Amino acid sequence: MPADSGKGSRHRPKVTDAGFVLDVRSLGRAPGSMRELHRTLTTEEKIGLDLIGIPAGAQVEMDLMLQSVSEGVLVTGTVSAPLEGECSRCLDPFTDEIELQVTELFAYPDSTTEQTTEEDEIHRLVDDTIDLGPVVVDAVGLELPLQPLCEPDCAGLCPECGVKMAIAGSGHGHEILDPRWAGLANFNAESPDAAGFDERVVSDPSTDSTLAGHNGAASKKTEES
Ligand SMILES: [Zn+2]
Ligand SMILES: [Zn+2]
Repeated sequence: MPADSGKGSRHRPKVTDAGFVLDVRSLGRAPGSMRELHRTLTTEEKIGLDLIGIPAGAQVEMDLMLQSVSEGVLVTGTVSAPLEGECSRCLDPFTDEIELQVTELFAYPDSTTEQTTEEDEIHRLVDDTIDLGPVVVDAVGLELPLQPLCEPDCAGLCPECGVKMAIAGSGHGHEILDPRWAGLANFNAESPDAAGFDERVVSDPSTDSTLAGHNGAASKKTEES
């Protein structure tokens, strides 16, 4: 993401606030010194997960308090941004918002904290700047759901035909016909006197192929017919 190509970023003549990078030089190092910072920035790329995140080009609002402490700069406040997601149940796109609470220490390069912690535990000041980018990326990743929903009770899609249940209505369903009964269903529909036939079968078990299954001759005859 950073465009450092050929610009010798370690010897920038002047550090200015840009994106998530905050210049904290004006804060000074006197413990207790504070500075409010309100900024709206535009994201260069999506921040988040596969199905949901802060889209590229979104406006991120930062309302922060920078406070000088003995070991570095303590950043507290909120970062809020719009979200774009895709419902994991019905696949519809939806929008939402996220508000992150930030409390993060950025250690001075020569501090005890800097010498006794790893860089991935406590962030560092670099050239009198702090980069909130990684903090926001981590916080967004923890905050967002892996399976986002357009509504908490989204009914999703019909597992049979894929239609959206919210559109199809609660009465939507599919009659599942057991293939073994399909022939019987047709027979009943086509024969008005089916009841009479059933009665005859019951009254004369010898014509019922199912009941006569133990009888070799009857079974054979049924198969041939
Ligand atoms: Zn949904
Ligand atoms: Zn369906």
